[in-house]
Parts: sequence; structure tokens; C-alpha cells
Amino acid sequence: MYDSETSAQTSRPFATFERLESQVRSYSRSFPAVFDRAEGSRQYDKDGRAYLDFLTGCSVLNYGHNHPAMKRALMDYIESNGVVHSLDMHSRAKAEFLEALEAKILKPRKMSYRAQFTGPTGANAVEAALKLARKVTGRTNVIAFTNGFHGVTLGALAATGNSHHRGGAHIPLSGVTRMPYCGYFGQDVDTAAQLDQMLSDPSGGVDKPAAIIVEVVQGEGGLNVASADWLRKVEKIAHKHGALFIVDDIQAGCGRTGSFFSFEGMGLKPDIVTMAKSLSGMGLPMALVLVKPEFDQWKPGEHNGTFRGNCHAFVTAKAAIDTFWSDDSFAADVQKKSERLRKRLREIALANRSVVKDVKGRGMMLGLDVGSSEVSDPVVDEAFKRGLIIETSGAHDQILKVLAPLNITDVDLDAGLDILAGCVAEVAERQALGSAA
Ligand SMILES: *Cc1c(COP(=O)(O)O)cnc(C)c1O
Repeated sequence: MYDSETSAQTSRPFATFERLESQVRSYSRSFPAVFDRAEGSRQYDKDGRAYLDFLTGCSVLNYGHNHPAMKRALMDYIESNGVVHSLDMHSRAKAEFLEALEAKILKPRKMSYRAQFTGPTGANAVEAALKLARKVTGRTNVIAFTNGFHGVTLGALAATGNSHHRGGAHIPLSGVTRMPYCGYFGQDVDTAAQLDQMLSDPSGGVDKPAAIIVEVVQGEGGLNVASADWLRKVEKIAHKHGALFIVDDIQAGCGRTGSFFSFEGMGLKPDIVTMAKSLSGMGLPMALVLVKPEFDQWKPGEHNGTFRGNCHAFVTAKAAIDTFWSDDSFAADVQKKSERLRKRLREIALANRSVVKDVKGRGMMLGLDVGSSEVSDPVVDEAFKRGLIIETSGAHDQILKVLAPLNITDVDLDAGLDILAGCVAEVAERQALGSAA
């Protein structure tokens, strides 16, 4: 029995998943392997084949897989029978995370916020943020932007633009008005001025919003970058019209754009910031809503959730802050790495002008705009065959998105980019041959 199962698994390695797992699975379709181990910038399948990881769980693993400092801290905590789960009771692990957050993240940036722990997903944090903004203002409407992605539970999904995800709801997605993001109509159209004009016009038809929610760099939406000037205007517009300004930093935060928060150095003071993905540092589920103290108007237990106290995530999140954010050196490294990455992507773009339209993004959240999935899909497939995991984003899956670990070595970064360059060139050549035929 055991033997026949093993041989069946060898001949049809995905049979178990095809038999038992829902059709809804998605990344497993782009990356057909059974992964087993992971370390640093690499994942290994069960046959020991290595893959460079330029996806990192969609920016959940900004510090790479199984970072030794986080692993050590977690193993010590488990060894000492540290509390794993305690609802939202006080725990030593939570206290130590909060103290590290205050001392090394908030205070040095002169930020004063209360921390609300929600259920462990990004969508959980967005739901809480929108609910709180509605409670504080007594209003229903929320302004969200074209190509915004905020999660797929109903409240967050209403703020998400993507029609594939919205189509799954089969119930009206209400309480959100869509407005054009920075640059949506080209660089000459000031969409912030449009937003202000529509909100200021008593017959503009847009209900006064409880909040304006925005990503500083749109991750799933295709690496669209908002300018500091546009963001400052939007923050001002929010306040002028009595709304809270929410930055969704779930993907762009935790160092991805080169600083801990994506909006640093822009003169912004969001009323609410949502965080998840890389917050725990090691891939453990954890989400956080940072709220200006004056808006922390919840009644005790009014918004709850069983899994708001993942102590293992608190332990690794504290280790991540201690390891990477005790001073400015990591941020400086990420900036340098970003320049190296941008330079290489520009070279790939120049060498393949028939298929690459643009280099997009900011920090270590950069990618290639190849126009459509007709180019990006074969690149993703070919890259995987050559040992590189890379994904697409954008309305037409037209962006090849590099989300390498922030602490990847230059050697590994170059190796991954060599594979990417080779795959883009090969697909460009195939297309040229196809159109000549
Ligand atoms: C991933 C993401 C979310 C949703 O997080 P989940 O953990 O998938 O629910 C929300 N906002 C942004 C900007 C994201 O990138």
C-alpha cells in the first residue's frame, strides 16, 4: 500500500492536491512543484531542486525564508513553553513586540499610534480599519482607487478594484466610491484635483466619505507609484472633507520600498495604517492596525476575533525589528539593492524593446511592464523551468513583479535577474518569429 502510493506520487506528483484540494488554488498552478524546504532566497522542492524566490509569498518574506535570528527566537520561545495562544490577553511576547515597535519603529519616526491587533490576515486589518473609520465619522462611504487591492472579504473587496476578485462575491459590494489613482489618466491629469472638485460639489454625487484608503505603491494593481505630492493632496482632501486618511501598507510596508513604512519622508501622517504580510518577518500570520490615539474609539471587544494574539508571530516580529530596524543600515542596504535592481531591469528593457514597455515601481518593489499576459505568462513559465519563481500583477497581468527578499545577496539577485533576462529575450524572440510567420 505504502509502496504503491509512493510510486503513484512519483509518477503523478500533484495527484493528492488534484483529488483533495479545491479548484480555487492558484499559485500552485503557476509553480508546479511540491515544495519542501526553504532557506534564505531559495525554496527547494521535495526532490531537492532549488528555486530562487522572487515572489517571497507576495512580500511576506521580506527577510528571506527561515532567517536564523527569527528561527532561534521562535525555537527558544517554544522550548520554554511560551504561551502560543491567549486570545487578546496580555502576554510577555506581545509586550516585548509592542515595546520594540514603540522604541525602534514609532518613536524614531515621531509617530504616535495605538496598535490594534486584528485577525491575522491583511483583509482582517482592512476590515477593521474601514469599520473604525465608519464608526468614528458616522459615515458609510469610503473612497478607494482604481487598481487598488485591499483583500477579498466583503468589506475589503468592495475597496478592491480587480473584477476577477469582485466577481466572486455575488452580492453587491457597497459603501465604496472608486476614484482614479495618481497618473491613471496620464501624468498631465491631476486626479487629486478631480477628487477634491467632486467632493466639494454638492451635486457631484459622491457621498461624504468616512475614509480615503490608498496604497503608496500598488502591489497587486501593477506597481503603480503615487507621487508624494499627490499623496499629500489626497491626505489634505480627506481632512478637508472630514474623512480619515488610511494608508494600506500591507504589501509596500516593512521595508519593501526602502523604508519601514512606504510613506516615510513624504510628510504624511495617516490616521490609520494597515500592516500584515511581512510584519511577523518569518511568514507567520499577523496583522496590525495602527490608529492615531484620538480615533481609537472602539468599545472593549466591539471588534474582536479569536486569533488576535499569535504569540509566535509576536516573537518573530520582535526579532525582525531588532535584527533589521535597530538602526538605518538595513534601509540603506535596501536602497542600494534597489538601484542595482533598477539598473538591471532597465538593461533588460532596453535589450528587449519589442516586448518591454517600461520599468515600474519603487524600492525593492520593481518590475517590467510587458504589456500583456501573452508575454508575461510564458516568461513566468520559462523562468520556473530555469529555477526562478516570479509572478505577475496588474489589470492584465502585464507586470513581471520582482519581490526578491530585501536581504538577498548581490550574487543571488544577479543570478535571478540573469534568468529573467534570458527568459524575456527568449519570449521576445518567439514572438518575433511568430509574427514573421
Ligand atoms: C495582500 C494585500 C491585502 C490582503 O491581505 P491578505 O492577507 O491576503 O488578506 C490587502 N492590502 C494589500 C495592499 C495587499 O497587498
